[in-house]
Amino acid sequence: MVEIKTDNELAAMREAGRVVGRALQAVREHAAVGMRLTELDEVAATVIAEAGARPAFLHYQPHFAPTPFPAVICASVNDAIVHGIPGRYRLREGDLLSVDCGAYLDGWAGDAAVSFTLGLPGGTLGLPGGRDLALIEAAERALAAGIAAAVPGNRVGDIGAAIAAVATEGGYGMPDDWGGHGVGRQMHEDPSVPNHGRPGRGMPLRPGMVLAIEPMFVEGGDGRYRVASDGWTMRSRSGARAAHAEHTVAVTDAGPRVLTLP
Ligand code: MG
Ligand code: MG
Repeated sequence: MVEIKTDNELAAMREAGRVVGRALQAVREHAAVGMRLTELDEVAATVIAEAGARPAFLHYQPHFAPTPFPAVICASVNDAIVHGIPGRYRLREGDLLSVDCGAYLDGWAGDAAVSFTLGLPGGTLGLPGGRDLALIEAAERALAAGIAAAVPGNRVGDIGAAIAAVATEGGYGMPDDWGGHGVGRQMHEDPSVPNHGRPGRGMPLRPGMVLAIEPMFVEGGDGRYRVASDGWTMRSRSGARAAHAEHTVAVTDAGPRVLTLP
């Protein structure tokens, strides 16, 4: 069932989303070569705790997971697409890091993700670092396109079609069976918001719907993945690098409203 939120509920969700946006901003500011992923997890945990919020990922165990998630953020490095567990790994020059974060505030969820590179990128397009920047930029552009499609009168398929068009244009792969979702009292609610779709198909978008939109792009066009031995981390089958971008967005009569900005 898809919940329709009132204006007051959307205002409350904006505050939950703001906590997530701030946590991701803090992680990005603190991230540096040599830092352990566990230290970045503590940065996010502190922001969430100081806001009086509760981390949404910690101890979360969805149906596909063999164990409860042990951390506050997902930290996915290089060929990890999503769901990376922040362990003792130290960030290296040129790493591509995707950070996903969720939180509950006053009973409402927010969910967002960013990707960025560590240290000096390759500099120009064509060098490895430059390719990473292009990959990240494409994922962000796909997110923006998906958000722009999240308007009343459109359908869920319009969002996926907008995202997939950016992937196809750039030659990027996407894991078929992973995508966005509704957000509300729970982090993961109906409807499913796939990263592919046909324009004009799927559930109609109505004011008050809140959706997490989250393209995951894999360099080289092959979106197939394998799950690592930790039972969580999704790595590209090809070994190519991946980028993830996500916002929680409200569908409103005034247009899409991004709820997870800082
Ligand atoms: Mg997320
Ligand atoms: Mg999500």
